[in-house]
Amino acid sequence: MRSERMLAWLAALLLAAALPCAAQAALPALELTPGHDEVQLSPYVGYRQDAGAVDEPADAFRRVAMGEFAPLPDGQSEFGFQPGAYWFHATVRNGNDAETRWVLVQQYALSDFFDLYVRYPDGRVVHHASGDHRPFSARSIRDRHPNFLLDLPPGQPVELLVRVQSESSMQVPLAIMTQTAFAELARDAQFAIGIYYGILLALFFYNLVLWLMLRDSSYFWYLFHLSAFGMVLFTLNGLGFEYLWPDSAWWADKSVPLSICLALIGMQQFARTFLELGKRFPRGNIVSLALIGFFVLLGIASLWLPYRIATPLAARVVLVGVLWIAVAGIVVVRRGYVPARLFMLAWAMFLLGTTMFTLVAFGALPKTFYTEYGVQIGSALEMLLLSVALGNRYASLRRENERIVSDANQKLERKVAQRTREVRAALVQLEEAHGRLRDSSRRDGLTGLYNRTYFHEMFEKMLVDGQQSHRAVSLLMIDLDHFKAINDRYGHLVGDDCLRFTAQRIGKVLRAHDALLARFGGEEFVVGLPNHDLHDAVEVAEALRRSLVESPCGTQGHSIRISASVGVHTIPPGSIDSIDSALEIADRALYAAKANGRDCVKTSITAA
Ligand code: GH3
Ligand code: MG
Ligand code: MG
Repeated sequence: MRSERMLAWLAALLLAAALPCAAQAALPALELTPGHDEVQLSPYVGYRQDAGAVDEPADAFRRVAMGEFAPLPDGQSEFGFQPGAYWFHATVRNGNDAETRWVLVQQYALSDFFDLYVRYPDGRVVHHASGDHRPFSARSIRDRHPNFLLDLPPGQPVELLVRVQSESSMQVPLAIMTQTAFAELARDAQFAIGIYYGILLALFFYNLVLWLMLRDSSYFWYLFHLSAFGMVLFTLNGLGFEYLWPDSAWWADKSVPLSICLALIGMQQFARTFLELGKRFPRGNIVSLALIGFFVLLGIASLWLPYRIATPLAARVVLVGVLWIAVAGIVVVRRGYVPARLFMLAWAMFLLGTTMFTLVAFGALPKTFYTEYGVQIGSALEMLLLSVALGNRYASLRRENERIVSDANQKLERKVAQRTREVRAALVQLEEAHGRLRDSSRRDGLTGLYNRTYFHEMFEKMLVDGQQSHRAVSLLMIDLDHFKAINDRYGHLVGDDCLRFTAQRIGKVLRAHDALLARFGGEEFVVGLPNHDLHDAVEVAEALRRSLVESPCGTQGHSIRISASVGVHTIPPGSIDSIDSALEIADRALYAAKANGRDCVKTSITAA
C-alpha cells in the first residue's frame, strides 16, 4: 500500500508541475496523414482524474475547454490502481481521404467500464461503451481488447473523450489505426498468443502422459502450475473474457485474483515436491506450507473481497511466492541437489518475466513489447526448462535407485558369502564331530582299542584283500590267564589297569606289523595279520606272549605279572574261509593253549 501511496504522491507532484503548462498550451491535434496507418495516441492525450466519478461527459468537455486536462506524465498512460474515474481527451483530424473508418483500440484488456464520446464539429456526440463489465458482444470488432469503429470525415477535427473507471489498474494505452492495420496487428498478436498457448498445451499433454505413466507427484503439480499460470495469462490478456465468460462481469473480476492464487498454490507445491523440501530443507518446507495455506485462504477470500483489494494483494504475494521459491531453490542447490540447478535456471526466467509484469501492473515500468510479452516469453521458457528439469530429476532418481539396488546387491552378496563361509565351517565341525562319533563307535571305552564289531568289518575286508592278492592272512586270539584271580585279588579297578596295560603292550609289539588289533571282549584280544603266513604269525604271537610275561604291570603299588595264551590260525592264499569259522578255529587253538598249561602259543595245526 505504501508504494501505491508513493506513486499517488509522485503523480500528484508531476500533475502540479504539469498543470500550468497544460493550461497555457493546449495539446496538439493528431493529424492522420496517408501512410500513418497506426498511431499511438499518448502524445496527443490530455487526462484528468475524476476521483469522485461525478463528472458527466458535458462537464469533461467543459474542463477540456478550460485547460484542466494535463498531458500524460512522461507520455505514460499507466497509473496503477486508482479510485474514481479517469478522463482522457484528444483531437484527431483525418487527413487521409482514402480512409474514413478507423479503429480506436484500448490495448489493455481488464478495464471495467470504458466509454468513448466522439464529438464532431457540428456538435454531434456519439457514445460507444465497452469494458469487461459489459457484455463482450458490445464490442465493434471481436477482439480481446476493447475497441471502437470511428467515423472520421476527412479534414474535420473530431474530439475523442474517453472515460475509464475500473477496479483493475488504470492503464489506458490508446491507439488509432486503419482497419487493415488493426487486422494485421491482431493477426500478429493472435499468432504470438497461439504459439505461446501451443507450447503450453504441448508441454501440458506431454507431461500429462508422463504423469500418468510415472505417477510422480511432482509431474501432477507441474501440470497444475502450468494450467493455473496459463489461466492467469489467458485472463489478463482478455482471452478469458472473450472466450470463456463473455457475459460474466463477476467472473471477469474474480478470475484474476482466483487464478493468481491457484497459480501460486501450484508453483509452491511443485517447487516443494521437485526440490524435496521435506527431506532437504525441512524448515523451508514449513514456510512453503504456510504460504500455500495463505494462498488457499486468499483464493477463497478473493471471491468476496473487492477486486481493488484482492488483486493488488494477490499481485504482491506473487513476488513473495516467487522470491521464496528462488530462496528455497538456492538453499537446495547449495546443499548439493543437482536437479535443482535446472530448476533455478527455469525459475530465473519466470522471476524476470513476473517481476516485469508486476512492475507494469503497478505502473512502475513502461509497457513495451518486451515488458508485456516478457511474461509470456519468460514463462514459456520456464515451463520448457521445468519440463526438462523434471526429466532430469527423474533420470537422477532412477540412477539413485539403481545405485541403491546395486549397493543392496553387493551387501547381499557379501552376506551370502559370509553365510556360506559360516555354513562351510559348521559343516567341517559337523564332519569332525561325526568322525569322532564314528570313531568312538568303533572303539572300546576301556582300552581305546577297536571293538569287536569294527574288527569284524575290517577283518572281512582283510580276508577279501588276501584272497585277491593271493596272500595269507593270520588271526591271533589272545586270552589272559587266570584273570579272574587278578580281579579277585587286587580288585576290579586294578584289573582294568591291567587290561589297559596289556592293550598297550600288544599294540607296541604290533607296531612293526600292519596289524588289526581289537578287544574281543572281557580279557580277550584278537589280531588280524595280513601278509602273514602261519610261521610269521606264530613268531608274532610268541613275541606278544613274551613281551607280556617279561614286563609286569605296575599299578597302585603292585607289580602284577600277566600272561596270555594265544591261538593262531592262518587262512592260506586261495582258500575260502568265513570270518566266523576262522574265529572258531583260532578259538579252538586258544583252547588248546589253555589246555596245554597256559602262557603258550598253539596253532590250529598243532591244536589238532
Ligand atoms: P583262564 O585262564 O581260564 O582264562 O581263567 P580266567 O580267570 O582268565 O577266565 P574266566 O573266563 O573264568 O574269567 C575271566 C575274568 O575276566 C572274569 C572277569 O571278572 C574278568 N573280566 C572280564 N572283563 C573284565 C573287565 O572289563 N575288567 C575287569 N577288571 N575284569 C574283567
Ligand atoms: Mg582268561
Ligand atoms: Mg576269558
